[in-house]
Amino acid sequence: MQAFHRHISGKGDGHNLTGPTHLATGILITASLTSDPKGLAIGMVASLLPDIDEPGSMISRKIPIIPYIISLLGHRTITHSLIGLVLFSGFLFVYAKEYLMVGGVAYLSHLILDTLTPAGVPWFYPLGRNYSLGLFRTGGLTEALYLVLLFVAGAVWGPLLFKPYMAQLANLKRMLMF
Ligand SMILES: [Zn+2]
Repeated sequence: MQAFHRHISGKGDGHNLTGPTHLATGILITASLTSDPKGLAIGMVASLLPDIDEPGSMISRKIPIIPYIISLLGHRTITHSLIGLVLFSGFLFVYAKEYLMVGGVAYLSHLILDTLTPAGVPWFYPLGRNYSLGLFRTGGLTEALYLVLLFVAGAVWGPLLFKPYMAQLANLKRMLMF
């Protein structure tokens, strides 16, 4: 299990939640806020974005150079703080105002989840310390239980949440066929 965790997270230091945990949370939250596929895509990226400060993370492996530059500030610094949330929200406000809420909430979900880990989150970076509720031990039982809970929630609400997307897919297919 540890080896598997190391493989999917690319970090394996026992203090970070895995990318799939953040992503699954982001998808469920975003899908309950919007039925716009673009909004869902932005929510998915936003739920992983704070980990761009860690070159081995799920999102950093998709992006060249930038993660290395941001990681010079250290792990879990500006991108895991209110400043990071405000900067990202400001970016959305300027370039994609209609996705401000889904993007902002998905980004916030990452910070809240990381606050549950022992390493915590420096909400008031560069001031203050890391705030942690210490509930999750990554790769541990709590994260596994949380994922099971998400899976059950997805199975129960998924058909309802993703119905609009399915309808849009069906429309697209019809359009392409004619
Ligand atoms: Zn993180």
